[in-house]
Amino acid sequence: MSAPRLAVRLIFLGPPGAGKGTQSKVLEDRFGVFQISTGDLLRKHVVDGTELGKEAKTYMDAGALVPDPIMMGMIGQQIGAIDSFILDGFPRTVAQAEALDDLLARAGKPITQVIQFGVNHDTLVRRLTGRWSNPRTGRVYHVEFNPPKVHGIDDEDGGPLMQRTDDTRDVVEKRLQIYAEQTAALKDYYRRRGLLQRIDAHASIEDVTAAILGNVNVILSEASGVEAKP
Ligand code: ADP
Ligand code: ADP
Repeated sequence: MSAPRLAVRLIFLGPPGAGKGTQSKVLEDRFGVFQISTGDLLRKHVVDGTELGKEAKTYMDAGALVPDPIMMGMIGQQIGAIDSFILDGFPRTVAQAEALDDLLARAGKPITQVIQFGVNHDTLVRRLTGRWSNPRTGRVYHVEFNPPKVHGIDDEDGGPLMQRTDDTRDVVEKRLQIYAEQTAALKDYYRRRGLLQRIDAHASIEDVTAAILGNVNVILSEASGVEAKP
């Protein structure tokens, strides 16, 4: 019998604009590790006009968190079928973290590491207010720091890029406040469990990727079963 493959189950923890989505996509593209972005999933519900999307939209537009029971239903469906993944934007409250621990313990798939992205307030505001994204794929760009080849057009699929309605100055400040009040406590939660690795996420996209790879304990291409691309 062959040895079971090493799994990698990462949480990317950090404030809005820290670069979690950008880095998840880099690792997904290069190593095939599946990104689960609760923000992208919610925005898809909003675009599709589902009941869940209608309910979530009021919270998202205000920069508030969508209630925990909705989020747990969504994450349970995602995690069921896959063994290795990156959680991007989830959990965001201690209640979500506890419920996630229960869910993963029952599935025999515990989190292997939590990467905490450290970025200062001013940098976060500049990143968020200059962000343009592809609403269909979640791929993000920045007008100044990571521009597409043609303004407003995704390099990958040629589709239009948009600015998110919650990336305005006012809503950004609200979201950063909510992060400090409700999500930052997760640093202690995971530190106590010996899972937390902090990286300095002010550096360039390439250097942040290198810092993540330097901190992850398993070889990602082996964990995902997909051959690494350069
Ligand atoms: P998050 O998912 O944590 O909210 P994103 O990955 O969407 O953050 O990044 C927010 C914005 O900052 C995007 O416009 C992105 O292009 C840009 N960005 C991401 N990482 C970096 C980086 N290391 N340096 C400069 N800009 C970055
Ligand atoms: P960012 O990383 O830029 O804050 P996301 O795309 O992760 O943005 O999230 C956008 C919005 O979706 C949040 O402001 C919140 O309203 C909602 N959301 C996403 N993930 C969660 C979650 N785990 N719990 C509650 N609300 C969430």
